[in-house]
Formats: sequence, structure tokens, C-alpha cells
Amino acid sequence: MSVIENNEEQNDQAGKEVVSRHFIRQIIDKDIAEGNCPVVKTRFPPEPNGYLHIGHAKSILLNYGLAQEYGGQFNLRFDDTNPTKEKTEFVRSIIEDIKWLGADWQDRMFYASDYFEAMYEGAIRLIEKGKAYVSDLTAEEMREYRGTLTEPGKDDPNRERSIADNLRLFTEMKEGVYRDGEKVLRAKIDMTSPNINMRDPVIYRVAHMSHHNTGGRWCIYPMYDFAHPIEDAIEGITHSICTLEFEDHRPLYDWVIRELDYRPAPKQIEFAKLYLTNVVTGKRYIKRLVEEGIVDGWDDPRLVSIAALRRRGFTPESLQLFVDLCGVSKSNSSVDYAMLEYCIREDLKLKRPRMMAVLDPIRLVIDNYPVDMTEEMVISNNMENEGLGTRTVPFGRELYIDREDFMIEPPKKYFRLFPGNEVRLMNAYFVTCTGYDTDEQGAVTTVHCTYDPATRSGSGFNERKVKGTIHWVPVKQAVKAEIRLYENIIDEEKGVYNEDGSLNLNPNSLTVLSECYLEPSLATAQAYESFQFVRQGFFCVDAKDSKADGLVFNRIVSLKSSFTLPK
Ligand code: ATP
Ligand code: MG
Repeated sequence: MSVIENNEEQNDQAGKEVVSRHFIRQIIDKDIAEGNCPVVKTRFPPEPNGYLHIGHAKSILLNYGLAQEYGGQFNLRFDDTNPTKEKTEFVRSIIEDIKWLGADWQDRMFYASDYFEAMYEGAIRLIEKGKAYVSDLTAEEMREYRGTLTEPGKDDPNRERSIADNLRLFTEMKEGVYRDGEKVLRAKIDMTSPNINMRDPVIYRVAHMSHHNTGGRWCIYPMYDFAHPIEDAIEGITHSICTLEFEDHRPLYDWVIRELDYRPAPKQIEFAKLYLTNVVTGKRYIKRLVEEGIVDGWDDPRLVSIAALRRRGFTPESLQLFVDLCGVSKSNSSVDYAMLEYCIREDLKLKRPRMMAVLDPIRLVIDNYPVDMTEEMVISNNMENEGLGTRTVPFGRELYIDREDFMIEPPKKYFRLFPGNEVRLMNAYFVTCTGYDTDEQGAVTTVHCTYDPATRSGSGFNERKVKGTIHWVPVKQAVKAEIRLYENIIDEEKGVYNEDGSLNLNPNSLTVLSECYLEPSLATAQAYESFQFVRQGFFCVDAKDSKADGLVFNRIVSLKSSFTLPK
């Protein structure tokens, strides 16, 4: 069963507009067939003003995947034309995240600021062609002149300035003669165009600001819509893939390419952004959570930045499966968070060992088991994948079991331990509950039972059956650990803000279980290593807080799923 076919059916079932996930491929196929594109070249152009998130992962894997598929090239280009917001910390994190995802730009990592000189020359060429002019309008006047969706704009009073004057004024802009906002360079296109982006857009502005790459070299900076096509053209990008909000900017993109006579012309193609239900994806919200100290940085495992997903225990393969399932579409929609959980379960279920861990411990004492005896139980690491081999787990008289696996007065259909009942201890023996101890508050501290030596797992015993199987960890050899359980920090659908402007936080987004016990082979688990804890879910060693003598695990996802692939 192919993932791709499924995706299309899924869109069908949801009654949404069905756009083949191949629509970008079809465009590329056609360009190749017509001989317009000897080598497919794509790029990912992040603005280094924050950490990358799951939506960016989609864009990266799409661009890289297409380059791979067509034997082409994939570039990484930092879109750093706006000097106010960019930070080198973000450049570093972006590089790390893209590498982790597995997208390989080889030696082609660029900065838009590398091309400032070419952009400046491009602006000069436009002026010389009579296609750009310096304007004295203030930002507010510019808005008034621009018109609206229903009314055309008015010509700028400086629109007919001579080429010589424009060249002189633009040079003066570059030389720092003017203050911020005092003058701009506008493209001379059409103030009556129905597309507002074509009404003589600003292409250069004065900004006396230091830039993280070029320092104080420039005090004029190009606008995104002018800069981006030039960046693409210089790098020989054939298919410039971006998100839908740029659809109305495409005529301007094409205008810049045409007027500056770049050949072959790169082609802008838009697709819908990825949105997830029940989680915050917006950089703005995440920034506030980080700044108010509500989360533990951009990589807090409750967030969906790539760094956070990685720390939580997601894998590059699970994200690839996820974006494949989402498909590529032209209509905006939200994808269920449960689908992301489905993908990580699918990826890990056969790859990772299944271990025993007790999250909320009580003691189980087998009163008829010899005090000093230990047996080494040989346990398959993954019953569905014998290739993962076996391990041994020591078994003894005193064990930890999970509190919820024992009840004094069980409800109907409770097949785990209660007085008089017999269950299987996973991979070990049948035990029958004979009693229990409680503390002063009446909480159970110890469960007593007896075992039947004939029932050892693997012995072929079949004289009687039990309905319940519970997991355990030996008290003497257990490894103590902290385990963190997560829920969504903010449900975007229920509203990010309260009426008073505070964030609408989920008080249960983080639960810390500080006294959990793991089987001893987990003592050497390394950062980012993940496991299934039987009956509990998938867990990953926290890369920030886990220490050799104080292991910390994140729950990636529970075992239960509310998401199923449509048949
Ligand atoms: P955000 O506002 O979420 O930070 P952005 O568009 O400002 O996103 P950029 O760094 O400018 O972030 O984006 C880099 C690339 O990633 C762009 O090509 C953009 O279209 C793409 N991208 C951003 N968000 C998404 C998303 N949710 N789904 C798919 N692609 C996205
Ligand atoms: Mg942006």
C-alpha cells in the first residue's frame, strides 16, 4: 500500500479540493520535456529570525526531495536581506536542523547578502532603462497613493524624474546622504494594476543599520520581492518553490527577471503551508513562550520546532513519512497532530527495543521465592523484529510494578492483580496475589503474592491460562529515572490568548514523574536514544537534562492511537 495513494484518498474523503501531490512534479516534467531545464535546481531560503519548525521541514524535504529525484541540486540560502531581525544563533540552529533532517546542500550554502552588489547593479540598470525612480514620499503618503483593491493608485509626484536625477539620488542614498525613510527606490510598473504588488513597489529603502554579514558596508537594503528573484537567478535555480501567500507576488517576480534579462528564467511555484491542529506553530507565539520562560527554550519538547521534535524523540524518517502523507496541495488546511504521532509510532515500532519500565511504582514481593535467588530472564528485544536480538533481565523476589496494575476492589473486566487473582509477570512466572500492605493513609505500598515455578515463560506450561500480563522491574537492579509526560501547551483551535491577553496555557502540558524504575540495561542509554516501554509508549533520553547518574526520558508518544490510515 503506497503512502502517496493514501494521501490522495484522504483528501478525497475530507471533501477538500484534490490537487495531485504531483502537481509540482508535473510542472518539472514538462519543463524537462520541453528542454527548458537540463538540471533541476531548488533551494530552501530561510530567514534567520527564529528556529525552524515542522512547516519548514516540509519545505526542506520537498525541495531537497525534488532535487534528489531529478538528479539535480539543492541549495541552502539564508534570506538575510532584512538586517533588523537576523541573528547568528538562528543561522547555527538552522544549519543543524537541516543537516539532521538529512537534506544535503553539499558546498552550496549561500547568503542573500552575498548578492547585495549584484542587486545594487540591477537597481542601477532598472533606473537606466527608465524602470525605476527615487521617491520622496513618506510611508504614509505612499499608502494614500497606493489605492485599494477596488480603486486604482495615483502616480507618485516623482514618477517622471529624469534618469540622470534618479541615478544621482540613488547613489546618494547609497552614500548615506539620507535618513531612514527619507527616500526609497520604486519600480516603475503600473499604478492602475489590479494587483497592488505591481503598483510601483518599493525595491530599495534606506536603513542605517549594521548587518550580521556585511557589517556597516550598506545603508540601503533591497526589499524581498526585488531581492528574491535575483538570488534565484544568480544561483541558477530552476524551480523556486514557496508558499501560497506569494502567489500574488509572482507577476513582480517575473517582472524583475524579465527586466533584468536573466536567462533561463527561474519559475516560482506556490504550495499551501502546512498547519497542524492543536499546536502552536507561529514563530510569534513560540517566541513569547520562550521569552516569558513558560517553556525551556526553543527546543522545549512541547513545541514543534525541529529542535524540539528532535529533543522529544522524533526521527528524520518519521518527519519524512509525515510530509509524504500530507502531500503537496494548493489549498490551505490543517493536518491532525495525531497523524504526526502515527508517523513516529510507525517508524519506531520495529526499529527500537521494547523494554520494561515502571512509571508509578509499588513493590511486589513474591513470598515463596528464595530470598537470595536471581534468575536471568532472556527476553526478545522486539517480538515483531527478531533481528534486534535478545537481552537478559534479572528476576528476583522483590519487583516494582505499576500502581495501576493492582486494585484492592477491581471493577468488572479488570484482569490485572487483585487479591486472589493470578496473572503473568511478563517473560517470567504466573503469580497469585495473596495480600497487600498499606501506609497510614491507606495507600498500597506492597503487594504480596506467590509464584508457581512450573509456569516459567518459555517452559511450555499450558495447564491453565491467565487473562492479564503485567510488566515489572527487579528492585535490586532497577535504574531510577525521571520521566516527563507531555500534552499540548496551547491548543491553537481553542484560542491562543485569554480575554486579558495572557496565554491560554494547558496546566497539564508537562507532568514530571521523578521516581520511575527501569530495567538495568537502560542504564547506559545515550542522548536521543529511544525505546518502547511496553504498555506505556515510546520514550527518548532527553539530550539537555539527562545525566549518566540521573537519566531523564521524554515520552514521545503513547501507544494508543486515535489516528488510522483510511483503508
Ligand atoms: P514563519 O512565519 O512560520 O516563521 P516564514 O515563512 O516567515 O514562516 P521563512 O524563514 O521565511 O519563514 O521560510 C522559509 C521557507 O519555508 C519559505 O520558502 C516558506 O515558504 C517555507 N515555509 C514557512 N512556513 C511553512 C509552512 N508552514 N509550511 C510549508 N512551508 C513553509
Ligand atoms: Mg518569512
